[in-house]
Amino acid sequence: MGDALYGLIEAGGTKFVLGIARGKDDIIATTRLPTLNPTDTLGAVVEWFSLQVQIHGPLTAIGIGSFGPLELDPASPDWGHITRTPKQGWANTDLVGPLRRAFNCPVAIDTDVNGAALAEYRWGAAQGQRVAVYLTIGTGIGGGVMVDGKLLHGLSHPEMGHMRLPRHPLDTNFEGICPYHGDCLEGVASGPAIKARWGKSLSELPADHPAHDIIAWYLAQIVSTLQAIFEPGRIIFGGGVMGTPGMIDRVKTCATSLGKDYYVGAPADIITLPALGDQAGLLGALALAENLAG
Ligand code: ZN
Repeated sequence: MGDALYGLIEAGGTKFVLGIARGKDDIIATTRLPTLNPTDTLGAVVEWFSLQVQIHGPLTAIGIGSFGPLELDPASPDWGHITRTPKQGWANTDLVGPLRRAFNCPVAIDTDVNGAALAEYRWGAAQGQRVAVYLTIGTGIGGGVMVDGKLLHGLSHPEMGHMRLPRHPLDTNFEGICPYHGDCLEGVASGPAIKARWGKSLSELPADHPAHDIIAWYLAQIVSTLQAIFEPGRIIFGGGVMGTPGMIDRVKTCATSLGKDYYVGAPADIITLPALGDQAGLLGALALAENLAG
């Protein structure tokens, strides 16, 4: 692994973070590009990596952690495409093809949250756990699951942001903003859903505003649901909404109350912020690329 050189891509709805690395503790260069239309953005991605290749040599593999939904069935001709995203211009975009053509190396792709789950398992808060879940609560909501050292996939990747959960008793009038389901989890608890109700982010609202407890209650509902399905050893909460002071503690308190001490995992023990912090996304791309290179 010593001489391997990896291209890393964290593909987000507002920005692409790129990196070049020889390992977790050897990230050589990074940059950020705004997410414009696919042609311009992917063109700029290829241009940046081409420059890096001129300086550092050929890429061993490229890892991509992307917003979704993604086609991840290796047997599908559309493998590596973003599929039915509501993001303007990005539906049915081939993320992998332009990179494979430009750099003639293997490309690994998964959702950004699956990548982060893998990175937290390998280097962060989920090390040694049989089952661990990584959730991001931000512009969107998504989750990835590690089971016995592997990422969980069904027909596609998990879509935890679209879980249907009970509505908070003080929050029954808001229709929710998910274009598909209205008041699914993402529709009521994502950053844009918070702004749609209260006009500000949680961090901008006073600490005693009821919004804090309403959102914590929704996030605690996910915890109880995930405990019922998986009994995970860790549930890691990342994303911008979790940057709200006190939110992680509110979620722990509320999940403890909802769970009634029924599950083996105590919410206070299993709920945590990402150990890799803001690097979880880029390190997720690295972990995916390293998996490919063996
Ligand atoms: Zn939805």
